[in-house]
Amino acid sequence: MIQLKNYINGELIAPKTNSYLDNYNPATGKVYSQIPNSDDEDVELAYTAAKEAFKSWSSTPKEKRSYYLIKIADLIEQKLDKLALAESIDNGKPLKLAKTVDIPRAASNFRFYGTGILHYAASAHSMEDDAINYTLKQPVGVAGCISPWNLPLYLFSWKIAPALAAGCTVVAKPSEVTPMTAYLLSEICIEAGLPNGVLNIVHGLGNKVGNAIVSHSGIPLISFTGGTATGKHIAYIAAPMFKKLSLELGGKNPNIIFADCNYEKMLATTLHSSFANQGQICLCGSRIYVERSIYEKFKNDLVSKTKELLVGNPLDDKTKVGAVVSKQHKEKILSYIELAKQEGGIILCGGVEVKLEGEHENGYYISPTIIEGLDYNCRTNQEEIFGPVVTITPFDTDDEALMMANSTMYGLASMVWTENLTRAHKLAKEIHAGIVWINCWLLRDLRTPFGGVKASGVGREGGFEALDFFTEPKNVCIKY
Ligand code: NDP
Repeated sequence: MIQLKNYINGELIAPKTNSYLDNYNPATGKVYSQIPNSDDEDVELAYTAAKEAFKSWSSTPKEKRSYYLIKIADLIEQKLDKLALAESIDNGKPLKLAKTVDIPRAASNFRFYGTGILHYAASAHSMEDDAINYTLKQPVGVAGCISPWNLPLYLFSWKIAPALAAGCTVVAKPSEVTPMTAYLLSEICIEAGLPNGVLNIVHGLGNKVGNAIVSHSGIPLISFTGGTATGKHIAYIAAPMFKKLSLELGGKNPNIIFADCNYEKMLATTLHSSFANQGQICLCGSRIYVERSIYEKFKNDLVSKTKELLVGNPLDDKTKVGAVVSKQHKEKILSYIELAKQEGGIILCGGVEVKLEGEHENGYYISPTIIEGLDYNCRTNQEEIFGPVVTITPFDTDDEALMMANSTMYGLASMVWTENLTRAHKLAKEIHAGIVWINCWLLRDLRTPFGGVKASGVGREGGFEALDFFTEPKNVCIKY
């Protein structure tokens, strides 16, 4: 059985304690690899390497840093099949999705920041009384990067690439639930010749490794993506230490559908935005609000299309819905479906665990679920489920739709379907969210600011915003 290793100071090494955790394949429910159960000592080792490497990496010409990032991007592309297979086995997501979305996007993240850093400039401000100010943008130091399990390599690289491009060195922790592609990335970094200590990957539990990174006095900035409760805990530790914080947290995204929308386009995209990656994308639309005049038609059409989605072996090309990530997560999702019933919800389709046969009989499968008849303010409609579960609710006016959309503590993404330009602009302005998709979903331009408001996070990733996060602006004022 493969035993993963930490990547510290350019080498693949065992955790200090030599203790390991089981890693499950969610499609079969079986242990298929082991990952280091690292602790403070391993984080300290990684930090020491990163601190030493910072001395040269922070002053390495940006063209050279760019070279390494692009080399890593090239290698990810060359190893697309291997990485996609690893991601699918580790996470339960359909192989096709890993091949077309997760892994290509991880390569794009490195390529985007590998080229972006070449265009990153600072401003100068001249004053009338013979003085000029210019801004230095200096890498902050050793960055702590912590990422979740839903889009493992995609989100891991979304932090690491801008950090390295900006001249920071990194101590990173992938989710303990899906460590495999981060491990393969460490092999890629070695192959790319990335200087020792520039990137260090420490595997293990959040409350040990994650906590050691967050509370380390030598790590001045933390970039975290994960659940809102974890983000709150991290802020509680890091804020009194005056660390820079980027927190990308949970969501409960509204999908608002008006009768004047392009119906076929909306229906196809809504199916996707509801159940892609088993609904385990922070940007999925889990609360669907539909104008009453098309509610019944929409309901029947969405239910019938959802029933056609094949739940099955993630490695099978026909599979549309794979396994959810873990046994605990499966139980959490099923408990929310029970809660929805108690709250008066009617299950229109799905709502049950799916039992496959053969080697997949112990895998974690849930049929895509649509629920109606719930109040907008019940728990099912307010709390993040993060699975293949959506609710549908009719509305009568724009104001009512907006009120329901804005009713949760979250504010990550939102969707609006309408052909009415005035209405689209008005809603875009008034929705509490960091991202508003009008007549589309998950259409991403990496230059745009990415993040949420309210309990969905603090700060923005993407474009130059991420480079701003990993650098500190310093104003230099010269009188001449
Ligand atoms: P968690 O918050 O449980 O974990 C995220 C990461 O933090 C993991 O690596 C985890 O390690 C680690 N961690 C856990 N506890 C601590 C701690 N005390 N200190 C430091 N690190 C810790 O989230 P999930 O992995 O369950 O991911 C799902 C969540 O992520 C959802 O809420 C989803 O909405 C959100 N998300 C947000 C996105 C955004 O861009 N806003 C994008 C994608 C997901 P371990 O795995 O060992 O627990």
